[in-house]
Amino acid sequence: MLYYSTNGQSASVSLKEAVIRGLAPDGGLFMPVSLPEIPASYFNSLNNKTLREISFYVVSAFLEDDIPRTVLSDIVDDALSFPIPLKEVEQGVSSLELYHGPTMAFKDVGARFMSRLMSYLYRNENKSLNVIVATSGDTGSAVASGFYDVEGINVFVLFPKSKVSPLQQKQITTWGGNIYPVEVNGSFDDCQKLAKQMLGDRELNGLLSLTSANSINIARLIPQSFYYFHAFARLENNTRNVVFSVPSGNLGNLTAGLMARAAGLPVHKFIASANINDVFPKFMETGQYKPFPSKQTISNAMDVGDPSNFVRINELMGSSLSNFRESIVSFSFSDQETSDAIQRVHAERDYIMDPHGAVAYLGLKKFLRENGPAVNGIFLETAHPAKFPETMNRIIDGFDDLPPQLQGVLNREEKFSSIGKDTPELKEYIMRVNQVS
Ligand SMILES: *Cc1c(COP(=O)(O)O)cnc(C)c1O
Repeated sequence: MLYYSTNGQSASVSLKEAVIRGLAPDGGLFMPVSLPEIPASYFNSLNNKTLREISFYVVSAFLEDDIPRTVLSDIVDDALSFPIPLKEVEQGVSSLELYHGPTMAFKDVGARFMSRLMSYLYRNENKSLNVIVATSGDTGSAVASGFYDVEGINVFVLFPKSKVSPLQQKQITTWGGNIYPVEVNGSFDDCQKLAKQMLGDRELNGLLSLTSANSINIARLIPQSFYYFHAFARLENNTRNVVFSVPSGNLGNLTAGLMARAAGLPVHKFIASANINDVFPKFMETGQYKPFPSKQTISNAMDVGDPSNFVRINELMGSSLSNFRESIVSFSFSDQETSDAIQRVHAERDYIMDPHGAVAYLGLKKFLRENGPAVNGIFLETAHPAKFPETMNRIIDGFDDLPPQLQGVLNREEKFSSIGKDTPELKEYIMRVNQVS
């Protein structure tokens, strides 16, 4: 299978090139030239299949031209080593809990799969692959955890000094081994700038192999389509229309869902649920895509003013607003509405949602009110509430959940390097780790 650039100015490339490059030379994002067609009969027999069985079937449909099936099977088993339960919260409203992985956010799925795929694609090269990633918190921990101990790969995680939560910092800095955390005396934007400078540095690229692991990589997107199939399989009565509500930031999760639907999964509608960063809901309403600087909210992983995967969705929709509206509805919610929903669902249903999942819950409820209740509604719960202790404590009195994954990390020792916003310093460090000069 070849991968083309959404900007249409670069030639199509192999899977390996798309994954190692991340971004196309013309600045576009890679998309598969065609999507697999999964036969309708497959969906009749899904109920007794496990997450891994379903994921293996779907990944084979996407990647078996490029990767042997035995390798795909190993990658799936290793990457999806945790459960993804579907829990009914109210009649017709279920939560897909994507947060049981090692860092307790759905980004574990994409990061674990990508790391193992990269390691396989890079297996015959004689140099290590150096992954450079800038983070404001969640991405860095998922990538560090996902790549830990993966052969032939070094990971440099750039995080801004004093600007990630103490828990997030622990999740980035306590790995050791092939994970090299770097504290940058600056902002997240400075980290991103440094990462871009490293990736574009001629001298460094001459000496070493460099790549990025951010969310635009197609290898993070493909595995995110698996859990839509899995969720469908877990429904008791999937003859009723199925709708998914997706808490959206960079729109990667939504893109993966739309790819699953294009490959044959019978989904009635997607609900793109946003916080007040409402570029996408506004686009759905007006047809105008107008990015703006992001605003801070309690669902901070969705504070995105110019969602990078919009161009991919536009491809899937053939740039037609009526196609967008046939497949997707989109709503935006305030922090107050989000907190109220968390409180209410906790009080009435004894179920605790995190702020991101709560935005998706609100989107689903609004859709059900407007379209009648005769559907199977699923909202994506993208992070464990315990990842946001300060916020959750303000909303629910006495909230003090601390699952073992997070407890474990708190007791481990932090190790990281510190640099200014200074390019030569980072470059030297990367060269030193790779033992070149
Ligand atoms: C990244 C993230 C999102 C947003 O997902 P996109 O694919 O960027 O739309 C939602 N919730 C959580 C917890 C996240 O970490």
